[in-house]
Amino acid sequence: MLVALTGAGISRPSGIPTFEEQPWLQKTLTREFFDSQPEAFYERYWQMVELMESVEPNRAHLTLAKYKIPIITQNIDCLHQRAGSEEVAQVHGYYSEFICEGCQGQASLPDGLRPIPYRCPKCREVLKPKVVLYGEQMRDWERAVSLAAACDTLLVVGTSLQVYPAAYLPQMVQERGAEVVVINDNADTRVPAFFADYQVR
Ligand SMILES: [Zn+2]
Repeated sequence: MLVALTGAGISRPSGIPTFEEQPWLQKTLTREFFDSQPEAFYERYWQMVELMESVEPNRAHLTLAKYKIPIITQNIDCLHQRAGSEEVAQVHGYYSEFICEGCQGQASLPDGLRPIPYRCPKCREVLKPKVVLYGEQMRDWERAVSLAAACDTLLVVGTSLQVYPAAYLPQMVQERGAEVVVINDNADTRVPAFFADYQVR
């Protein structure tokens, strides 16, 4: 079985800049900023959401979906799901879902105007997006580890592997003697090219 581990580089050709290219976002997506400046947090958060909603999956996302490759992704843009992939462990969470830490209520993206900050309709607590902020635990991590433990080949696409614990996955695959293939740049052409040669097992 082939499993893909993807990062920002796979969505770069769709027009989503990487984290390193958006230092403002890096400073925004922290637990401390969310707690201390919820209005400023949401102003920037909605900008990010607008960008994600304005782009489309590219040929790399579409190819992984076509071959029904299970995916572990560090991205929160949901482009794998929009491309049609069903098995996606999104370890950094989802931009379009929200939770209330006050009453545990859930919410989705608001229709129409986006409130600053976005509050729980029941208890008026500021809602927290289900994205993993700096200083928080990974999501779907057990699923990611079990996928990495089951694959014969791990195809790593568009991630510099500098972020732990995701960087731990290829290490784990290599240590048990399975294959790790890395595609860093030009994912939208190189991923389809890889599958043109690769016999999906
Ligand atoms: Zn609430």
